[in-house]
Amino acid sequence: MAKANKGKIGVSTENIFPVIKQFLYSDHEIFLRELVANAVDADQKLKALVASGEFTAEAGELKVSIELDEKKKTLSITDNGIGMTAEEVDQFINQIAFSSAGEFLEKYKDKIDSIIGHFGLGFYSAFMVSKKVTIDTLSWKDGAKAVKWSCDGSPEYEMSDSKKAERGTTVTLYLDDESAEEFGNKGKIRQLLEKYCRFMPVPVIFGKKQEWKDGKYVDTDADDVINDVEPLWTRQPADLKDEDYLKFYKALYPMQEDPMFWIHLNVDFPFHLTGILYFPKIKERMAIDKNKIQLFCNQMFVTDHVDNIVPDFLTLLHGVLDSPDIPLNVSRSYLQSDAAVKKISGYITKKVADRLEEIFKENRADLEGKWDNIKLFIEYGMLSDEKFGERAMNFALLKNTEDKFFSIDEYKQKIVNNQTDKDKKLVFLYATDKQEQYSYIKAATDKGYDVLLLDCELDSHIVNFYETKIKDSRFARVDSDAVERLIPKEERTKPELSEEDKTDLGDLFKAVLPSEYEYVVEADNLGADAAPILLTRNEFMRRYREMSALGGGMNFYGSLPESYNITVNMENPLAAKIFAEKKALALPEDKEARKGAVQEFAKGSDLVKLVTDLALLGSGLLKGEALSDFLGRCGKAFGDAYLK
Ligand code: ADP
Repeated sequence: MAKANKGKIGVSTENIFPVIKQFLYSDHEIFLRELVANAVDADQKLKALVASGEFTAEAGELKVSIELDEKKKTLSITDNGIGMTAEEVDQFINQIAFSSAGEFLEKYKDKIDSIIGHFGLGFYSAFMVSKKVTIDTLSWKDGAKAVKWSCDGSPEYEMSDSKKAERGTTVTLYLDDESAEEFGNKGKIRQLLEKYCRFMPVPVIFGKKQEWKDGKYVDTDADDVINDVEPLWTRQPADLKDEDYLKFYKALYPMQEDPMFWIHLNVDFPFHLTGILYFPKIKERMAIDKNKIQLFCNQMFVTDHVDNIVPDFLTLLHGVLDSPDIPLNVSRSYLQSDAAVKKISGYITKKVADRLEEIFKENRADLEGKWDNIKLFIEYGMLSDEKFGERAMNFALLKNTEDKFFSIDEYKQKIVNNQTDKDKKLVFLYATDKQEQYSYIKAATDKGYDVLLLDCELDSHIVNFYETKIKDSRFARVDSDAVERLIPKEERTKPELSEEDKTDLGDLFKAVLPSEYEYVVEADNLGADAAPILLTRNEFMRRYREMSALGGGMNFYGSLPESYNITVNMENPLAAKIFAEKKALALPEDKEARKGAVQEFAKGSDLVKLVTDLALLGSGLLKGEALSDFLGRCGKAFGDAYLK
């Protein structure tokens, strides 16, 4: 090619460059990844030619070098890969690269926002930041001549001879003014290389390593290699030790605490996937950072937003996934329905379940020790992913109020004899707060029942989950009913009261109970030793409220006032005394007047106040002024008795 050769790139839209610059403004830093990826590809292709015996000359050490001339505002990417002949430049750059970019733009013009942030625009992306781009390339083929290609951002290009003497390709970007501002400094380029090229499979060199000499940093002779060409996930699990995994984790997340477990993924069929997923310590859902999984495609960083690639609960994990089978240049919504992505996501879920089951079987003590930190993750998975939920029934642990752990099957065995009710339902008793519900827990354990501790933020949901998964089961919080009635084993007889007595009893106690709540008052026989009155919260009402608070959508229940059940134990002597005193009152006929008289009696009775306050105290509801009044009265009563 003696004379410069001009041509027109086959793109239909005349001014495609300004268009693409504008559309892709927010993400134009990916140009560097795309160009380095092309250079790495060219090196890898040469490696393949060497391996196949097609290339027999000296290949040299394959690498990619990046050079920035801060003064001239040029950035060049040089590889010593296969290079291109003039015909190839014409075919791959003039025709394919540009026409596909043109098609791409045509197709997505209107919905550029729905395209995922990072996609392969390839060589073309150079024009997002450049006013001119040149390619100098020398093919590996015998007798090939070096070619120079140049294009100033209009659809016109020029091709001529190049002086390039070494095999490979140099792409030089003449940064436009705006981009020179942003990318024309070494710090920024290094940052981008570290972000996108950190694990690429061929050494990526950016200048020389520096050392501190005579009061300043100076270049040494050694190349500064940005990347680790053989990151941990590409190596064989059998060759790796725990320290290696921990070290790699620290390199990825310098600020994080050590992870608890990890899984090394490695599959070739029916799709390619490698990676390492780490289980971080998770205590609160709100406090965790999602987007800690980095997605790679053949060691090229793609994104840290994997939300459409793995099920939501898995985004709580950390680590890296590498798969060339995840399509990158499609919209996010499409990604979710993509068959390969579905398979990959199902596979990862299965592997995570396998790993947890393995730890459960082989290292139960380890799982128990770490349970509190991993429970939220597992429960979130159980609730949000049906397959994982089924698998997790084999390794999920239940912890009781004595801090002992059980698998679900073990626990069923433990309670089946003592905690099966008259309807043949297995009743799982649980507490959500050991301190607040202490008196209820004690009442239940004194009766020989076992009480689970479900104090995690997802537990109100998990209770519903278990009730549907464990046949003939029912969960009841210890304070949801009197202990005598939590697990009814036979039909019980209730005290027989007239309608008037029932109404009076309700009015009587409501007169002294805190007015911000609602109450349902009823009489029962709970035995002489049980408390005179008992305050409990209906299991289902409470659950609905909790779930609506968690965003379960049941806002009707969420807006109801908090409601308590008050059980008056007619067999208790103090309750019996209050009832007898009430009976002895001469009450008026008129309903309203009668209510008033009963309320007056209650407010004037120290005994009524005492038993109600005690019940409130046991439920943690006696607070503020009421608590201080109660303490005052108690103190005085004790003092008086002492001084007598
Ligand atoms: P893609 O890489 O997705 O195929 P590009 O637009 O990035 O698309 O590149 C088009 C083609 O140009 C490549 O497939 C490759 O054949 C050729 N090419 C690009 N860069 C180089 C390079 N540095 N060395 C050799 N060939 C290259």
